[in-house]
Amino acid sequence: MNMMCVSCCKDNLSKDEIGVNKKLLGESVSEYYCIDCLAEYLEVSVEDLKDKIEEFKEQGCTLFD
Ligand SMILES: [Zn+2]
Repeated sequence: MNMMCVSCCKDNLSKDEIGVNKKLLGESVSEYYCIDCLAEYLEVSVEDLKDKIEEFKEQGCTLFD
């Protein structure tokens, strides 16, 4: 499945990018942002999002399998 960023059209979004979209925007979202655009959208830094991804993985979140 090739997911594309709805904002900048970067394609081949990673599982981490898709997982963090679902975690932060809701599992029912149908449009995804790349990590750069998601950070901008949520007004946080890319580093914050990467930290979050690691946190979710540590919690065993299945969205990142
Ligand atoms: Zn983007």
